[in-house]
Amino acid sequence: MHGSEDDPAVQDSASYDEEPERGPERRHVHAGGTEIVVARYAGYCYGVERALRLTGEALEGAPAPVATLGPIIHNPSVVGSLEERGVRVVDDVTTDVGTLIVRTHGVSPDVIARARSRRLNVVDATCPFVSVAQRKAAQLREAGYAVVILGERDHPEVVGLQGFAGADAVVVEDASGLPVERLRGRRVGVVVQTTQTRANLSALAAELAPVARELLVFNTVCDATEKRQSAACELAEEVDVVVVVGGRNSANTARLAQLCQAIEPRTHHIESAAELRPEWLEGAARVGVTAGASTPDEEIEATVRALLDLCGE
Ligand code: SF4
Repeated sequence: MHGSEDDPAVQDSASYDEEPERGPERRHVHAGGTEIVVARYAGYCYGVERALRLTGEALEGAPAPVATLGPIIHNPSVVGSLEERGVRVVDDVTTDVGTLIVRTHGVSPDVIARARSRRLNVVDATCPFVSVAQRKAAQLREAGYAVVILGERDHPEVVGLQGFAGADAVVVEDASGLPVERLRGRRVGVVVQTTQTRANLSALAAELAPVARELLVFNTVCDATEKRQSAACELAEEVDVVVVVGGRNSANTARLAQLCQAIEPRTHHIESAAELRPEWLEGAARVGVTAGASTPDEEIEATVRALLDLCGE
């Protein structure tokens, strides 16, 4: 039997351009006796590139002033240079702006409704991967499931997801946070913050399976996150030191650092090349570099150049 469009079990057809399956090869550069290896997938993802393009287009023709609802991406240098070009950052819907850009993390539907009711021009840069998770959350709620969101409680994406999942939705950061007695014997549906790890999702599903009467799990971890995480783990297995570049407030960058750290304890999360320390490289024959989905190529390149300088000394 085939499900209908309203059936939450029906998968969304992908409405975005996925990154190529194999992707670029790793990049290897040498300095002194050290090899620097850049992960196959590192830096800007599809959703971030799209949001920055939409912001650039808004600056050229949309009603001014243009503002983003929260920083457009979790990268201070990119946000700073957009501010220089006139893009303001606001933390709530305000009538002081002409155009309001919703960032990749998305927002609760009532936020967009509020902005439109105030006649603001809304540019919705919600990443299509996040939109899928939002739709799944709403479908689960409408179908009467107890909705569980796996993600960081205060992360804007998770706050937005809650707006779709309803006030009764449960947010947990890992399996240990599940309110098991409240979910026992119920129909439970799960959606996942797009930047979570598969391992965290697997542990949650294993905990819920014997508890729920029915369990419907949507793996809404995004394609770009999975590719960056697996490329980072592959790299961490093979090098002596890992450098992860990206904003400290970037969830996906922090997760890359966590995953790498579990494999290679000599892992360092930096926001900029200036933070690199020569002592981190002592005795290292291979240094791996990876970067979160909100890290510009220039910052990856600056890190590689700084490593080359340090290793060549
Ligand atoms: S990390 Fe994934 S969900 Fe987030 S913006 Fe990039 S592609 Fe979209």
